[in-house]
Amino acid sequence: MTEYKGIVVIAEQQAGKVHPVAHELLGKAVELARDNPQEIMALVLGPENTDVQGLIERGAEKVFHLRGEIFNLPDELIYKENIVPLLKEIKPAIVLIGATTFGRSLAPRIAAALDTGLTADCTDLQIDEDGKLVQIRPAFTENILAHIKTKTYPQMATIRYREFPKPEPVSAREGKIILKEPFVSQQNRVEILEQITRQEANISEAEVVVAGGRGVKNARDFDILKEMAEALGGTIGASRDVVDAGFVPKAYQVGYSGHRVKPRLYIACGISGAPQHKAGMKESETIIAINTDPSAPIFSIADIGIVGDWYEIIPRLLKKLKEKTD
Ligand SMILES: Cc1cc2nc3c(=O)[nH]c(=O)nc-3n(C[C@H](O)[C@H](O)[C@H](O)COP(=O)(O)OP(=O)(O)OC[C@H]3O[C@@H](n4cnc5c(N)ncnc54)[C@H](O)[C@@H]3O)c2cc1C
Repeated sequence: MTEYKGIVVIAEQQAGKVHPVAHELLGKAVELARDNPQEIMALVLGPENTDVQGLIERGAEKVFHLRGEIFNLPDELIYKENIVPLLKEIKPAIVLIGATTFGRSLAPRIAAALDTGLTADCTDLQIDEDGKLVQIRPAFTENILAHIKTKTYPQMATIRYREFPKPEPVSAREGKIILKEPFVSQQNRVEILEQITRQEANISEAEVVVAGGRGVKNARDFDILKEMAEALGGTIGASRDVVDAGFVPKAYQVGYSGHRVKPRLYIACGISGAPQHKAGMKESETIIAINTDPSAPIFSIADIGIVGDWYEIIPRLLKKLKEKTD
């Protein structure tokens, strides 16, 4: 029997607003605890106005809130030196962290300090008959799903945003808030010189993605896809090859090593449908594929497949859309 008990979700916040991946992870924790009753806890480092109540409403029975403006700085070392002692005190069996850019940088530092394992980018989690966490993630470029168990405690995993459904808040839920004083051993190591507000839509949140691949001949032609995306209230997306070619920033890459998207509509233009691309978009509600090659693998997952040149088809669709809205 291990002395480690309970599930801790480490919630990321920005200016008090909790990242939705933390809510998704709490929803999953509630599901895991249904058959294996254990306490669900959240750990959040943030200013006074941090939405702690939102964590309780998504299932946290206890929230450890390390309060401080200092946590508005994306400094993994300050986070780590506050989280590690607390985890040593709580001794949770499971620690879950969202695989955001910050989470991906923070999680291994915590795992190393606790001398435990970490499974990155899980797509599912289960509890086996011995009560151990089964961390499921694609391996060998999505050809197999690896089931990983950790021998050491706590069992730590990062999970990508939008892998699990977002639970509805239940306002009747009650939880205990435990305030903790932050600990800062050194002066700020990170200084914010300028905050740049991103203009582009977050591709993971988009309802419509109009994506282009190597069938798009140059960077300028992405303007046509952008116009189409805007007409549909969405954003552009891209295969890795066009990102590597410098046509589109990495923020728009869809796939195994890019973003995972689940929009209502995904239009793939000049994308062959390599497994690594499909991994990022196959769960879209409706997929329209436009490709000149009738044997392109993208057609195997498309709801509507159009064999043809996107340079002809997209402008025609755009014209029709504009006629409708005018
Ligand atoms: C470890 C690893 C990770 C990877 N991660 C990713 C990832 O995250 N995302 C990703 O996308 N890829 C990823 N890849 C790369 C992936 O294997 C493919 O190389 C890539 O997806 C191919 O991009 P594409 O479909 O744009 O190009 P291609 O495979 O070259 O396909 C271009 C398609 O355009 C069609 N076409 C050409 N002209 C037109 C036209 N005018 N109109 C319509 N159709 C046209 C062609 O028929 C063809 O099917 C990864 C690879 C590895 C090994």
